[in-house]
Amino acid sequence: MSAAVGPHSTLFWAVCALALLACGVATTTALLWWRARRQVAGLQHSLDVASTQVGAAAPGDVLTGLLPRAEFELALDEAVQRCDQRRSSLCVLFVDVDGFASVNDSLGHDVGDQVLRLVAERLHSVTPQKTAAARVSGDEFLLLLEHDLPQAQQLAQRVLQAMALPLPVAHGRPLTLSASVGIAAYPVHGARARLVAQAHTALRAVKQAGGRAWASFDPQMAVDQRATAALVADLRVATGLRQFELFYQPKIDARTLQVTAAEALIRWHHPNKGVISPAVFIPLAERHGLIGEIGNWVIDEACRQAGTWRAAGLRMRVAINLSAYQMRQDDLVPRLEAALASNRLQPGRFTVEITESLALENTQATQRTFEALRRAGVHVAIDDFGAGQTSLAYLRQLPASELKMDMSLVRDLASSADARAIAEAVIRLAHALERRVVAEGVETAAQRDLLVRMGCDELQGYLFAKPMSATALGLWAMDDEFSRRPAFSASLFQDTVPQD
Ligand code: C2E
Ligand code: MG
Ligand code: MG
Repeated sequence: MSAAVGPHSTLFWAVCALALLACGVATTTALLWWRARRQVAGLQHSLDVASTQVGAAAPGDVLTGLLPRAEFELALDEAVQRCDQRRSSLCVLFVDVDGFASVNDSLGHDVGDQVLRLVAERLHSVTPQKTAAARVSGDEFLLLLEHDLPQAQQLAQRVLQAMALPLPVAHGRPLTLSASVGIAAYPVHGARARLVAQAHTALRAVKQAGGRAWASFDPQMAVDQRATAALVADLRVATGLRQFELFYQPKIDARTLQVTAAEALIRWHHPNKGVISPAVFIPLAERHGLIGEIGNWVIDEACRQAGTWRAAGLRMRVAINLSAYQMRQDDLVPRLEAALASNRLQPGRFTVEITESLALENTQATQRTFEALRRAGVHVAIDDFGAGQTSLAYLRQLPASELKMDMSLVRDLASSADARAIAEAVIRLAHALERRVVAEGVETAAQRDLLVRMGCDELQGYLFAKPMSATALGLWAMDDEFSRRPAFSASLFQDTVPQD
């Protein structure tokens, strides 16, 4: 027996091996069990954290504390029932912050979040107690007012006023924004199911008209929006197929009445609808993400045409119009420089026109582009000047060499002493800042004579020439008949540079 279990016996070693194996299994099992427990504990912790967060967010949108969409819909259902019982009215207001995307793009998402929180606070401060308020997406808010349409319109007006006050964001200058509001009323505008959609239709109508306003739903709005949607679909096709043409309208020297430049104005040749004005389709292209591609085509085509004229001996200064989106594009100036270089054009002979409202935007992105344009030596003109409220201090900083007086100022020159006083002030101001002034929309000899007397530098308008195709402009220039006209002659094309 002792031999059987002694240190040298086989049984002894077998028992030892078994014991070791058992120990190993036990240790491994213990380790696995411990690891599994840790994982369970970890999961439990994550679950706890998540449920705490959900708990905190439960009353509403995490960022603003307002209701989420689903709860707003429930509140609306209940309010509609109350309305039906009492035979009263209620209204849904769809509120959208104008230009919020550019706040996010140019100032970053932290500032964007601050703005949204402040907007929620402002909405809260102008709405009666118990008004259900929700944030339904990025910068879109819904308000539910258990009153009739006139009271909802008053509320919309208060929302616009509150939103127009500067927003004090941290680490930066206060931002001044605006809002748009669409209103739909129950039961006047129809069934509960369509109420929010109708408020949204009204909001879109406000946006399409430029924002900063409110509108109540009107069935015609839905019809207009369907037509617009069809036009946008056509515009998408047109952009791919390049169904565009640049027309050119001369600018005339006010003293010599010689042509100083030609402004490129885009036209869309719609296959069924004929020629469509940029005033119609450029805003659509801006809203639907097509302006980048169209704007690039304008740059290439204007440079190509300027190169062709140059090769024919017509050294025409060409101006193009830029949109807000292009001014925020990082590659705008390199693209322009490349197009100029490949057509052997000097940047100093090329002008870009930027509307006053866009020049006023004064965001980091537009500042960078202004600076890059200045470095590249491209001339900048401020278009539609006098239509907005440019800060004079800011105007001084802009590297613009030309101000284009808005045609609304030119229109009333002959009939209104006020219009004359404003036009004179604009010309004097521009000259004090060493900028040239071009008057747009000159249609009558009386307007021309007044502007010349006031010292305006250049004139543009139907009195001299309407925008025309590049071919028509070339033919006009070569035509002896026309060369006797003060507005245009072939020799004038030798150099159309006003102030290089
Ligand atoms: P804008 O740059 O201020 O151009 C002046 C507009 O006034 C042009 O309208 C022109 O045809 C019109 N006009 C010129 N002289 C007279 C006149 O004596 N009387 C009247 N009543 N109108 C006159 P158009 O060509 O329809 O262009 C409208 C606007 O569309 C332009 O205003 C410009 O802001 C924009 N646009 C045109 N082409 C482009 C483009 O290639 N890109 C961009 N982003 N915008 C463009
Ligand atoms: Mg222009
Ligand atoms: Mg203009």
